[in-house]
Amino acid sequence: MTGPARPLAPGAEAAEAPAAGAPHRPGGGGPDGSGPAGLRGLGDGAPRRVAGAALRRLGGAMLDALLPPHCLTCDAAVASQGTLCAECFRGLHLLAPPFCQRCGVPFVHAGQGGADRTCPACAERPPAFAAARAAFRYDEGAKRLLLPFKHADRTELAGPLAAQMARAAPDLLRRAELVAPVPLHWRRLVARRYNQAALLGARLARGARKPFVPDLLRRLRATPPLGERGAADRAALLEGAFGLRPGAAALVAGRRVLLVDDVMTSGATAEACARVLLAAGAAAVDVLAAARVPDPRLQAEA
Ligand SMILES: [Zn+2]
Ligand SMILES: [Zn+2]
Repeated sequence: MTGPARPLAPGAEAAEAPAAGAPHRPGGGGPDGSGPAGLRGLGDGAPRRVAGAALRRLGGAMLDALLPPHCLTCDAAVASQGTLCAECFRGLHLLAPPFCQRCGVPFVHAGQGGADRTCPACAERPPAFAAARAAFRYDEGAKRLLLPFKHADRTELAGPLAAQMARAAPDLLRRAELVAPVPLHWRRLVARRYNQAALLGARLARGARKPFVPDLLRRLRATPPLGERGAADRAALLEGAFGLRPGAAALVAGRRVLLVDDVMTSGATAEACARVLLAAGAAAVDVLAAARVPDPRLQAEA
């Protein structure tokens, strides 16, 4: 079950705190009546990169005076840069229990998990990864954040998204020994210029002080969209699609890897990547995504 997103306590974004070159803006949101502060951004656009905390504060204040801050996903005015307006914030659904203990797929009610609190799919065929979690339910509200992040160069959204991912899975981050993104095929990378999963992974690793290896995995061939296909089809399409970067086996051996993606749909991609990492000697693989697509079968059952 998911509820409306709620603003977070100030401590909840601590995972982002040590980020170098990511000045926090003065003031912040929330208690001053500025609206939801749950997605407090980092405001690290180029004009804000100034040396020294005092200068940063001054620079931020001046920039606010020149450019009134607006919502991360719409044009509504907000009190501080890097936050969402009340309406956009209400449209987001943070994932909360009950969900499958294994793959993180949201349940409509706790009874959908068996005795071991896993979904029917995981019970029937346990995934290669140990646990998968996500910050948001992938719905219209999440798309307003994730589509611009993925396709429209809105790379500054990585900070707020990663902060929510860290909040959703502190245990996964804590036990990770290596953080790596789901890779893009190089042709897609050239077209898009950045791998959105790598931007999230870099933020998460920096916040949790874990080693980040952006090119640990490679996409060896492009795959068609997996969308409506069945599980067997998806697995067949992804067979051999991922490989370990040559020479990276020593990095992986015996380590617990946290695999990062922007959207987790069926889990087939995470599964394929986890298999490659485990075959290379990883001790275990966890998966953390910004958003999770609910399983329509579980939703319909309710
Ligand atoms: Zn808005
Ligand atoms: Zn499951």
